[in-house]
Amino acid sequence: MRIFRRAGNTLLALLNDILDLSKVEAGHLELEAIDFDLNDLVAKAAEIMSSRANAQGLELICHSSPDVPWHLMGDPKRLHQILVNLIGNAIKFTERGEVVLRVERDPDSKEPGVLRFSVADTGIGIPTDKLERIFERFTQVHPSLTRKYGGTGLGLAISKQLVALMGGRIWAESTMGKGTTFYFTARFGVQSEAKWHRPLSPEDLRGLKTLVVDDKAANRLILREMLTDWDAMVTEVERGQEALPKLEQAQEAGKPYQLVLLDCLMPDIDGFEVAGRIKRNPSLAGLTVLMLTSDRWADDIARTYELGLGGYLVKPITRPDLLHAITIALGRSKGLTPAASLAAARSGPAAPGILKILLVDDSTDNRVLIQSYLKATPCRIDLAENGAISVEKFKAQRYDLVITDMYMPVMDGHAATRAMRQWEKEKGIPATPIIALTALPQPDAVAKSREAGCNAHLTKPIKKADLLKTIEAYTQR
Ligand code: ADP
Repeated sequence: MRIFRRAGNTLLALLNDILDLSKVEAGHLELEAIDFDLNDLVAKAAEIMSSRANAQGLELICHSSPDVPWHLMGDPKRLHQILVNLIGNAIKFTERGEVVLRVERDPDSKEPGVLRFSVADTGIGIPTDKLERIFERFTQVHPSLTRKYGGTGLGLAISKQLVALMGGRIWAESTMGKGTTFYFTARFGVQSEAKWHRPLSPEDLRGLKTLVVDDKAANRLILREMLTDWDAMVTEVERGQEALPKLEQAQEAGKPYQLVLLDCLMPDIDGFEVAGRIKRNPSLAGLTVLMLTSDRWADDIARTYELGLGGYLVKPITRPDLLHAITIALGRSKGLTPAASLAAARSGPAAPGILKILLVDDSTDNRVLIQSYLKATPCRIDLAENGAISVEKFKAQRYDLVITDMYMPVMDGHAATRAMRQWEKEKGIPATPIIALTALPQPDAVAKSREAGCNAHLTKPIKKADLLKTIEAYTQR
């Protein structure tokens, strides 16, 4: 079944690609010329691709030069398509290392709207004599990998046509076994200055004494580049152990650091351990710590809050994200608490503080699914496999929210909800919001769960947006 579906998807992708290509070649494809924010576009493309990269153990890094104008006019959809295609290929043909997306002004052009994008990987490479041919239709240099990961052999041909329509060109450089870099240029309109708005100013960071702690040289380099562009003073260390002595020495010398950017995942001691040591050292009380994570694991985010850190940033880190996070973390942005605004900035409808959730479902798949939906929400999730266990846990500690399946063995959700409501009444505790989940759209399911004492009811398959909306509504966060 899966194979059929996969074959179907591949065929569909092929058909789409052929349609796309024939449209371009027949001169029927007209590019749009609309206002768009390049920064948003890059962030979105990076976000989509970074989970795929992370799943493969690769890091996706984005870097943009400070002189790139962000408010552009052009065809964002087609630009997105090219970027996703190139990044997708880079991930597909790279087993270890990283994929770096760069955006800069085209060094060969004086026009501010002519940009050069590059996607560099550390993958298997392309033989020199094939570097031109890969832009032709149906050219695949690595047939066995293509069989494994799929592909139509048309992506680059389409990208080449689109780039030409954008007034640019595309090419690749490669060293076998070391990696490949794809470049393309494109010409965009630059929106008039009047439309620009810059809520945060990099001026605030001038002279800011910053320590970057990351085991990956590429990450350190990019953070250093961004920070020095804003005239911050940057020192780097590559191991968690080196961080604390550095901070303490500077403190003793009367030249304390003000900010630490801490990679979460490092060998030996990880970022949280370092953060914990910093927080336990009273002489470093004034220091702001930002955690850099590779994924939005709810647990990591929760730990960031628990440790009272300035916030977290999810890689790939973009220039505006970093500026935003630092500005907020340093308390320079008015009106928002650091934690709340940071969470909101990076993860949609998130909450200040951590939500304690009791998740009750006998199906492992459902528990995993809901946990994955809540990955970006700062919460701590306790699990129970049936109603009886859930009631026990409910009595043992306070939760902000219960999410419970209604049909389970041992004790079902209705009975469990009734027991929880009864217990709340006995103890005089305010009612905890309870969200019911049922599989079948039975006519009386909603009425039955309400009768048992649930506040809301969702029918499976649960959609992420619905779940988050309901949680938001019932936790007032
Ligand atoms: P496909 O759908 O097969 O990926 P493309 O037109 O996007 O089609 O790419 C054509 C071929 O170019 C690929 O099959 C692969 O052999 C080669 N290629 C593209 N990108 C890379 C890369 N980053 N590293 C190595 N080979 C690549």
